[in-house]
Amino acid sequence: MRARRPADAELLDAARRAGKHAWAPYSGFKVGAALRCADGTVVPGCNVENASFGLTICAERAALARAVSEGKTAFTAIAVVGHGRRGRHLRPCGACRQVLAEFGDLDVLCEDRGFRLSDLLPETFRFRPRRSGRRPR
Ligand SMILES: [Zn+2]
Repeated sequence: MRARRPADAELLDAARRAGKHAWAPYSGFKVGAALRCADGTVVPGCNVENASFGLTICAERAALARAVSEGKTAFTAIAVVGHGRRGRHLRPCGACRQVLAEFGDLDVLCEDRGFRLSDLLPETFRFRPRRSGRRPR
């Protein structure tokens, strides 16, 4: 578990705002995310459902794809806001944990508490290419 910091509230608010734009006509389960980049900027994302359910993208990965498309690849935290059944607070799914881990360990802020990504996904899968090129972290 991670202690709250003053900037966390701002990031959680950004995630709440992004969640209002979620495209969730099938489940009604709207999720917002906000990724804090190392340069201090905040990139929002929301879930985007699809009639072919497997094509649905989570809010966390939507934010990450947007950030990378803007040339940002260093991150310090991500906030994720959404409420499941019976008011349970949302946690990033396994796919999002793995995709986020590609860019290093970061803080994961949920409505009720914070985590380190490495605590949510220990023993992350890593692939180290044999040939030179752009190396993953
Ligand atoms: Zn996910």
